[in-house]
Amino acid sequence: MIKRLLIANRGEIAVRIIRACRELGIRTVAVYSTADKENLHVKMADEAVCIGAPPSAKSYLNADACVTVALGTKCDAVHPGVGFLSENAAFAEKVQKAGLIWIGPEPETIRLLGDKVQARATAVAHGLPVTPGSDGAVSSEAEAKKIAARCGYPVIIKAASGGGGKGMRIVYEEKDLAENLKIASSEAQANFADGTVYIEKYLVNPRHVELQVLGDGKGGVAVLGERDCSTQKNHQKLIEESPSPGVSPEMREKMCAGAVSLFSALKYRGAGTIEFLASGNEFFFMEVNARVQVEHPVSEMVTSSDIIRDQIGVCAGLPMEAEPGVHALNGWAVEARINARAPGKIKTLHIPGGPGIRFDTFVYADYSVLPFYDSMIAKLIAWDSTRERAVKRLLRALDELKIDGVPTNIGEQKTILSSPQFLSGHFGTGLYAELFQQ
Ligand code: ADP
Repeated sequence: MIKRLLIANRGEIAVRIIRACRELGIRTVAVYSTADKENLHVKMADEAVCIGAPPSAKSYLNADACVTVALGTKCDAVHPGVGFLSENAAFAEKVQKAGLIWIGPEPETIRLLGDKVQARATAVAHGLPVTPGSDGAVSSEAEAKKIAARCGYPVIIKAASGGGGKGMRIVYEEKDLAENLKIASSEAQANFADGTVYIEKYLVNPRHVELQVLGDGKGGVAVLGERDCSTQKNHQKLIEESPSPGVSPEMREKMCAGAVSLFSALKYRGAGTIEFLASGNEFFFMEVNARVQVEHPVSEMVTSSDIIRDQIGVCAGLPMEAEPGVHALNGWAVEARINARAPGKIKTLHIPGGPGIRFDTFVYADYSVLPFYDSMIAKLIAWDSTRERAVKRLLRALDELKIDGVPTNIGEQKTILSSPQFLSGHFGTGLYAELFQQ
């Protein structure tokens, strides 16, 4: 078993990993940037080492520094968390070459799934429908026009190495295609050092549905239900829930069958997510995230599991705790992401509690929210027996949550959660724009 684990990340996910490690009897080493000295993950870890300046490129994205610290502090494993280096196959390789355990799937699996063009082809091979579009990279304007005309407008241009909603352009008419193709490709080059783009049909107001998967690395695959992440602002998730109010039993069965086949064939190890867009009775594969995700708590709450503990255990060679197969879900869980709208010092923090409430964060009263990193400062999750009750409970807990000193999106989350559209369960990714007339 692992004795000492380095967390190549910060904030809320690093705190979450430390908690799992404590329960497993694993000591933890945190890395941090010069700006993050007061971060809760630094205070909670058994040891913490500063690895550089505040910009991520100079600290949390420095793969060599993370490996050097891991070796220097006698770690035997590295957990990459989410974002930063978590889907970086070269980093995974470096970790393994240094003789350390990588908490994630094999580097070649990350590489295959990280290329959205190859990932689409893999999904098709396992019987999963993909949105109509180019089945590979689009290299010329003429080719793009032909594909877009075949799919029908609107279309979306996406970066093959993209993520986090970056490098996506929606095109409504042919006259705008050439210009957007150029912009998307140069954005992709700038953000991901890879200008490769592809084209898909743009679905209007679809649902975003994803499956939480755990693999034992030998072909055994557990599906811990679906999550609905349709409530988004600018293609970024805001509210996630499990189960999804918009997935029929037939759709769920088809999605799960395809996912089990794909992850089993890849001999997938650890936690992963397969994302789909659903429209009416149809669904389409979007991508696989070869890591744990921010919204994993909703799946933990409806399956009574500890995804991160299982992920670490499986990667350390322990048997998978989750039974292979598709798990039944108990009750309903809803998560609201709490984002800071600007940097600043938190003066007061009142944390909600009571039955069925979970609050995951790395901030505390007197903590200064920094301008350098993701704006998410906490996740508030509510569980109850039905969707209606879980949403009511989340609204009750949002009322209890008080954060003074920095502006947040708490008010906006309450507006969404109490809107008739959200409560009806019939909504898609256009909900935010509909409510706030964006
Ligand atoms: P990223 O990896 O950058 O997060 P995704 O491919 O996961 O990008 O897509 C993020 C979001 O963008 C989706 O949840 C959805 O709202 C929107 N989106 C992506 N592809 C399409 C599409 N073909 N049609 C409609 N919306 C899309």
